[in-house]
Amino acid sequence: MVVGKLRPATVTVDLAAIRHNVKEEIKRLDGHSELFAVVKADGYGHGAVPVARACRAAGATGFCVALLDEALELRAAHFTEPILVLGITPANEAAIAAANDVSLTFGTLEWLQAAAENLAAHANTPLKVHIALDTGMGRIGFREEADLRAACDYLTAHQDTFITEGIFTHFATADEKDTTYFKQQAKRFNELVAVLPRRPKYVHVSNSATSLWHAACNGNMVRFGVAIYGLNPSGRGIPELPYPLQPALSLTSELTFVKMLHKGDAVSYGATYHAAGDEWIGTVPLGYADGWLRRLQGFHVLVNGQPCEIVGRICMDQFMIRLPEQLPVGTTVTLVGEDHGATVSMQDVADYSHTIHYELCCILTQRLPRRYI
Ligand code: PLP
Repeated sequence: MVVGKLRPATVTVDLAAIRHNVKEEIKRLDGHSELFAVVKADGYGHGAVPVARACRAAGATGFCVALLDEALELRAAHFTEPILVLGITPANEAAIAAANDVSLTFGTLEWLQAAAENLAAHANTPLKVHIALDTGMGRIGFREEADLRAACDYLTAHQDTFITEGIFTHFATADEKDTTYFKQQAKRFNELVAVLPRRPKYVHVSNSATSLWHAACNGNMVRFGVAIYGLNPSGRGIPELPYPLQPALSLTSELTFVKMLHKGDAVSYGATYHAAGDEWIGTVPLGYADGWLRRLQGFHVLVNGQPCEIVGRICMDQFMIRLPEQLPVGTTVTLVGEDHGATVSMQDVADYSHTIHYELCCILTQRLPRRYI
């Protein structure tokens, strides 16, 4: 996709905020724990490579991604730290991971056997692996002790092929106030880990929510994700954070067209909005093709610190707002972020569009240029 470098619409990423969030979390870890920065999905839409650099500068000692391709992007950018792919990579890509010193996740004996075949044919270096345990997330990983034991036996018998670097699980409800299910998962994790003949280098269970609110069971590495970007993993569910997170992302644009409409004049597809009287209407050059969801009709953006309603349907590349007065073309429009003391947060946008801020960050498309400050 073409990056709109010549357009007046920009995602600005504040790397100082990212460094702040990572440093604050590292301060809370015990001296033996490491922080791996989760930079999958292009750093939750913020840009994986610049974010990873900022995290490393702030003390992160490794990275987590979702895809082998994302790991290779970091290697191509000369990151030498450990990189773990959190999802299941096709076993026939094992040799590529080994050659690039990328650690892969597995959750079945069959995967190990298939990966061993690929490594035997194509690799001359062992593959680092992390054992995924499904303690209640229902996504990937071993659920039964017998299956885990069989895999451990296989690993013991194939130490030239695999280095067992880690074991982990993922919590389904770490961001919720009710800790009942969380505790069940933690208990199951300890039962399953006890099956291992020896503890691997990394034992890890914590995403942002776990690390922020359940630090006691962090293991010795945390997979710190959304909080890096300054977003509360619980949304508004648990507002009490151990330290204030600084949101890193803002989204701004400019008015490209301003006109007065008169009573009854319509705006946008379907003519769903009609001016109630004389109204100044501004056009903002950004739309659902940029990830600014169509269902944000009726929400607001900031102009000179004032909320301005989005009127009419959001188009693919443009939307319209009702202005408090005539304003010049080129006036700044803040879709996400701060403007003259007022703020629209990703959480505000998420609430209005009935989703979570995670999703909104990830769907800001590559057409929007990223600027780093
Ligand atoms: N660990 C795993 C296995 C994940 O899937 C994710 C994100 O989805 C994370 C860690 C990071 O989670 P968060 O962004 O909530 O910190």
